Amino acid sequence: MIIVLLLACAGYAQENLGDPDSLKIKLSKAPTDTSRVLLLCDIAYSYRYSNVDSAYEMAKRALELSTHLGYKNGTAWANLLIGMTYAIRGNVPLAISYYERSMHLADSLHNYIIVSRALANIGWSAFDLEDYYRAIDYFKRSLQYQQDLIGQETYIITLQMNIGQAYLANERPKEAEYYLNLALARGKAKNENYGYLLNLLGALRIAQQRYTAADSLLTAGWKLINLLPDKIDKADNRHYFAKLKLALGEIQNAHEYAIEALGNYQLLRSKVDLERVYKLLSIIESKRGKTQQSLTYLLLSNALRDSVNNSRARYSGFLFDQREQEKQLALQQKDKELLQAEKRNQQIVWIALLFIFTGVISGLSFFVWQKQKTNKKLLALNEELIRKEATIVAHNNLLQEMNASKDKLFSIIGHDLRSPLYSLTGFLKLLSHHSDSLSKEELKMFLLDLDNSLKNLFNLLENLLEWSLSQTGTIEFKPEIFDVALSLKENQELLKDQANNKCIAILNECNSIVQVSAHRNSIHSVIRNLISNAIKFTPDGGKITLATEQIDGYIRVSVADTGLGISQDVNQKLFKVGIKHSTPGTDKEKGSGLGLVLCKDFVEKNGGTIGVVSTEGKGSTFYFTLPMAT
Ligand code: ADP
Repeated sequence: MIIVLLLACAGYAQENLGDPDSLKIKLSKAPTDTSRVLLLCDIAYSYRYSNVDSAYEMAKRALELSTHLGYKNGTAWANLLIGMTYAIRGNVPLAISYYERSMHLADSLHNYIIVSRALANIGWSAFDLEDYYRAIDYFKRSLQYQQDLIGQETYIITLQMNIGQAYLANERPKEAEYYLNLALARGKAKNENYGYLLNLLGALRIAQQRYTAADSLLTAGWKLINLLPDKIDKADNRHYFAKLKLALGEIQNAHEYAIEALGNYQLLRSKVDLERVYKLLSIIESKRGKTQQSLTYLLLSNALRDSVNNSRARYSGFLFDQREQEKQLALQQKDKELLQAEKRNQQIVWIALLFIFTGVISGLSFFVWQKQKTNKKLLALNEELIRKEATIVAHNNLLQEMNASKDKLFSIIGHDLRSPLYSLTGFLKLLSHHSDSLSKEELKMFLLDLDNSLKNLFNLLENLLEWSLSQTGTIEFKPEIFDVALSLKENQELLKDQANNKCIAILNECNSIVQVSAHRNSIHSVIRNLISNAIKFTPDGGKITLATEQIDGYIRVSVADTGLGISQDVNQKLFKVGIKHSTPGTDKEKGSGLGLVLCKDFVEKNGGTIGVVSTEGKGSTFYFTLPMAT
């Protein structure tokens, strides 16, 4: 055990440390920096056996200063030294925990010398607890660091010896032999603990029952050890000799060696070794027949065993606590990771939701936009359709009107024009055959009738021609400025005879010039038709009044008569191309029902309106408007 502890700190201070007192003088002059930390470590190390409490104090101060300075290598050393003081005091679990702290810190700093020392020290603590497997494992790990990264030969040899010793204690002589031979092969010169190695080899030979070899090895070992002050080597040598002698049946010699070993172990206060030597002494005394003595040693041995067991139990407890703590930490870590994972998942879910939401909104916006676009298109199409429909209706109406015009035209030609012509030819035939038998008055009367019929026919033909020209679009209703009063006067003149025949007075109230913007000829026809109708439907002695007035930029022309008037029923049928309505005049004048249709058509083509106000039996007033000339 001592070998490792002795060498533990040699790594950081290669020079001889000196005694605690001279080091303390150095300390009083040292500045408060990293060198002071190392000096405190040196003092702690030099105190370790002579004054373990002072060693602990110094190591503690080194730890505090290094922590304050942030000097991590110093902290690693201080922890290693504190561990060592706990190991000396027999508090193995605490020692191990300080070693481990030191080891982890050193590892993070890549200070492999400290790592290797800490591993070896943990190995020795395990050895003290008789946990040889663990001890071997830690020694080997320490050796690996030395061989791969550090290469301190003395320390390598020490570790090989340690591993050999642990195998030996674990009763695995073959492996022990291997490692001890490795140390042996390095030679005596490099091994300052060569005597110790010979001791171990001696012990191995005893285990192998090669007693002669054991004897010579232990004897050779003793020669070297005896010169040195080291008590543990001497104690071990004597202990192994005692075992050898016991095995050889040399009980007395065995007793002497055992007592010698006991004395040394007692000085060292090494409990494990003491326990072993007590046990050996108990056997020896029993062999010597000293039962009482044997029992006493056995009790002493058992008491120490209890203390070892206590230590082991404490260590087991410590390990258990540590494992529990690790488990707890691992669980906490796992919880933390789970929490983080959950948080991450939540974040992912939120992000996904955000994406989905944005997607849905954009999708909806796109959908709405598309819909609006489609709606607009549909609306435009609808409007277009309505327009087209209206055009179709208009065309249809036009077609219907045209059809009605055509029908009217044919009916007029077929009947209204043919029948007066027939009657005229018949009338003329009658006149030519019977002219001789007719008196002058009779002839004059017939000829007057003929003239009237021809005038009617002429009027009809004129209307027919104008209307057909209007329907075929041949008349161009190009407006011109003219005096509508003049037009009234001209037509009054034109129809004067007809009016006179019925003793109808035509009163023209319009004396001044009334300028309108319209197609003169068509308006002329309108006036002619209206005056002609007024004469036709006014009985003898009646009155016709022609007048104009100005209303809102229009000129209103009216032809009022004191004639038959028009019933409400008939009024509805007037001005309509599809409806044939015609009644004979007061002198049985025939008509075609074309006149008013023609009037409406011409007035509207000139931008005006036409209408009638009538009272049955009292007379009618036909009127139409025309744009005033500006
Ligand atoms: P026509 O006179 O050849 O029959 P019109 O289109 O000029 O054709 O007139 C249609 C009908 O309107 C007439 O047959 C008559 O019944 C009525 N009408 C027209 N003018 C008058 C009027 N001044 N007074 C009474 N009835 C009229």
